[in-house]
Amino acid sequence: MNKIKCSICEKNNNVLRHKITNINDTFKLYLCKNCNHLFVHPIPKKDILENYYKNLFSLPPNQEIKVKNKIKYIMNSIDFDLNKKRILEIGYGGGFLINEFIKNNYYIEGIDICNKNKKLEQLGIKLYEGEITNKNFKPIKKYDIIIMLDVVEHIADLNSYFRKINLILKKNGYLIITTPNLNSLNYSLLGKFWNWLSPPGHLNYFSKKSINILFKNNNFDLTTFKTWKGDEDKSIVTMIFKLPFTICLYYLKFFLLIFFKKKIKLINNNSRKLDYKKVNYFNDNYGFFEKFLYNSKNGPEMFVVGKKLK
Ligand SMILES: [Zn+2]
Repeated sequence: MNKIKCSICEKNNNVLRHKITNINDTFKLYLCKNCNHLFVHPIPKKDILENYYKNLFSLPPNQEIKVKNKIKYIMNSIDFDLNKKRILEIGYGGGFLINEFIKNNYYIEGIDICNKNKKLEQLGIKLYEGEITNKNFKPIKKYDIIIMLDVVEHIADLNSYFRKINLILKKNGYLIITTPNLNSLNYSLLGKFWNWLSPPGHLNYFSKKSINILFKNNNFDLTTFKTWKGDEDKSIVTMIFKLPFTICLYYLKFFLLIFFKKKIKLINNNSRKLDYKKVNYFNDNYGFFEKFLYNSKNGPEMFVVGKKLK
């Protein structure tokens, strides 16, 4: 037992599960034994997070293919009508979901911490820049639906974030979230070397139980819970075969850090470029092993929908 509180259920029954070293810092990840939630503690200081998002964080070059596949999955999974609804996407990034939604004549606005997307603005899409928790973010009308694809795991202060979501979402409105699934087969098999364990970018790793608690504590009823392959661009079988190599690379990076701090970023970017070539192959072949291995609960990414109660 220790005095560290779980970031979701606030119980202090947590164990130190991983220590992960990124470019300059080592982060501690604790597992809550009550709600099976993995979280970074302490929350990295503001300057570490700012430096990470400004200098080290980059969207992979295959982002477009991945997001387009994800959008297909999401469109098929949403079981309520999107017509004539006010929709907000938080963290719209490249704007791929917004583009797809306007093709279908849905009304959608977007907010992102990065610069506004000029192409979307020219199409007349209302875009905001910054965090939703900023005081100046005051949409004219409440939304019917809020979508956050792979955003929730990045948020340092979930309480103030969900307070704001409650303010801008209508009663009976829907919140759609995708996020890595800690109950996945991938995490069970790969542990520390699962590629989504990536602090300080990812600070919270949800289980079905912990996302349920997050929703309950914030006035939401969990109406849908599904899992699938998500952004994973390699087959789980490939990942297991590559595990010894991944482990060697992790420690090699650790060793190289001492001598070549600046070069690590280049190594990261290049390894992403190599992955890019394989994505199409995997997306075309996805399903063969996964059909046997994944069930509705243990895929690497969860798709959850919450309905706002009051
Ligand atoms: Zn907990």
